[in-house]
Amino acid sequence: MRESMFPSPATPASDARATDERPYLLERVGEAAVVQLYADGFNTLSLNEKRLAWHLYQAAVAGRDIYYDQRYVHNLEMRDVLEAVLQYPAGDDPESLAAITRYTKLFWINTGPYNNLTARKFALECDPDAFARAVRHAAAAGAALPLAPGEDVDALLARLKPLYFDRSVDPIVTSKSPGPGKDILEESANNLYADVAMADLEGFVEQYPLNSRLVKRGGTLVEEVYRIDGRYAKAIGRIVEHLEAAQAYATPAMARALAALAHFYRTGRAEDRRAYDIAWVEDRESPLDTINGFIEVYMDARGRKGAWEGLVYYANREKTDAIQRIAEHAQWFEDRMPWEPKYRKPKVTGVTARAIDVIVEAGDSGPVTPIGINLPNDQDVREVYGSKSVSLSNVSEAYERSTPKEFRSEFALDEAELKRAMTWSAFAAELTTNLHEVIGHGSGLVSEALNGQPEAALKEQFSTIEEARADLVALYFVADPVMVELGLVAADALADVTLAEYESYARNALVQLRRVREGGTLEEDHMRNRQLIVHWLMEHTTAIDVKRQDGKTYYRVTDVKAFRAGVSRLLAEVQRIKAEGDYEAARALVESYGVHFSRTLRDEVVDRVDHLNLPSYTGFVMPRLEAVAAADGSIADVTMSYPCDLTSQMLEYSALTRELRD
Ligand SMILES: [Zn+2]
Repeated sequence: MRESMFPSPATPASDARATDERPYLLERVGEAAVVQLYADGFNTLSLNEKRLAWHLYQAAVAGRDIYYDQRYVHNLEMRDVLEAVLQYPAGDDPESLAAITRYTKLFWINTGPYNNLTARKFALECDPDAFARAVRHAAAAGAALPLAPGEDVDALLARLKPLYFDRSVDPIVTSKSPGPGKDILEESANNLYADVAMADLEGFVEQYPLNSRLVKRGGTLVEEVYRIDGRYAKAIGRIVEHLEAAQAYATPAMARALAALAHFYRTGRAEDRRAYDIAWVEDRESPLDTINGFIEVYMDARGRKGAWEGLVYYANREKTDAIQRIAEHAQWFEDRMPWEPKYRKPKVTGVTARAIDVIVEAGDSGPVTPIGINLPNDQDVREVYGSKSVSLSNVSEAYERSTPKEFRSEFALDEAELKRAMTWSAFAAELTTNLHEVIGHGSGLVSEALNGQPEAALKEQFSTIEEARADLVALYFVADPVMVELGLVAADALADVTLAEYESYARNALVQLRRVREGGTLEEDHMRNRQLIVHWLMEHTTAIDVKRQDGKTYYRVTDVKAFRAGVSRLLAEVQRIKAEGDYEAARALVESYGVHFSRTLRDEVVDRVDHLNLPSYTGFVMPRLEAVAAADGSIADVTMSYPCDLTSQMLEYSALTRELRD
């Protein structure tokens, strides 16, 4: 599970250190910001750790196109054509080229033509004839185009035209609430299923639930398995090659995990993935680590198929201390969860929590990155072996340093709230993100009847319910005096930190509407869960007031005690829903509070944000690694640099993976 977005719309002024003359915000592309990510600690790693990082970096980049293909069946050929135009630009029509460039950047940031927050398609905004001319020019200049057998450029253009220009063709990548009578798989444009509806799945048992594409062929369901001799064979082959080469430089525990992962990529079998998950969780000490595989299920409306991602990171020792104090007291928190005692774990196992700095993220985790990750997702592995939780420090830092100042002031009602936000909300956000990941997701027992798989019972509602549960745990404990006892918050600051967090949480339900410029429903699970909690509190408690002032709407926290009491009540119910797999209750809760919003209010928020020119989301440019070869071909050194340019990095990745496609 993951935290996908920087949660707080108000961040404090950071002291600009002399070293931070360097650029963070590189450019704005429509509603997206492009930001450079820095990994300063890389240079303190040993040479062998750097060699390890280099192989894992290669393994991460190697899988990037798997995710492109999973997200949309036409993604890769669409990208090829766009990149051809950018690499062989005609000089005669700068306006169309600018429009194509802008669209291509959004395409890279979102991994295809679907907005990562709204799940909806965005279109290329230029004259289709001008686009056709640009493509023909690129072809004439020598660009390789993704022509089907026997196809010429004109036929290719005719085939792809609706994909670029018509938003009603395959309009939504993941549709969890398609409306009555419509099917969540048929209405979702992603490539995890082909010609499959929910009804086809009745009585069908998947052998490879996480790492397969389901296809209906001649009336029968077929699982196309992602493994070394299956779908994405070449990319997976390259990944395995680097995972195997990496083992020589890894700690013994990490080498075991990497070997288990390579084995899983060979067989694709669920039990081998489970063995890898266990080996990965049991490696608690290695300073460097990786996540590489079919992991998160948010893109699948059914919540079963894993989207491919690759990350490489190392521990940020300075920041890990606070997070570990929380993890060491996991049992203390579990014993005090405000839900029925039968859902508390009698013995919490091995929650390992760290602050980390990311070296690279690809696939489902880049260029748009999470800020916190807690894995593995298998409930039964978590219950027996524990889980590892990481908060992505350099990502949070880059968010903070690239956020415009006005973000702090627009949605705070008065000076006092603004001052609290300036002083405390980044601190509170980091603390609650840690609580969410380390204590929230790791907590709680589910009923034995669910076989450790509440996601199977809760289906498309599972992710929202699970994210709400983890947020509620964080909101509940951030106010607890134990924060002071653990040395995480100063005694005289606890009340302000709590209020700043509650205010920021309430404000976010309003501010996040800026991200959904069309329609009247939320699709993204974290956005749903945040709205769910705030709207539920509004209806059932006296914690939050809606205020109108000078034509602007504000969500104001009026009663901290009522807020926390409400959180406690809702958490008890959300835990019960998960533990019992109560699908109907989950659906009712999410539908009533988490999905629908007022378009008038959204339009107001969008106006206020546009007026300030604030971004809705951020794509990150990753650090770049380069190996220096010794005379014998071994790696003599690995250097890190910062491209500070989205286009050059995306083109470099595409060149590295072109030969690995199916
Ligand atoms: Zn989460």
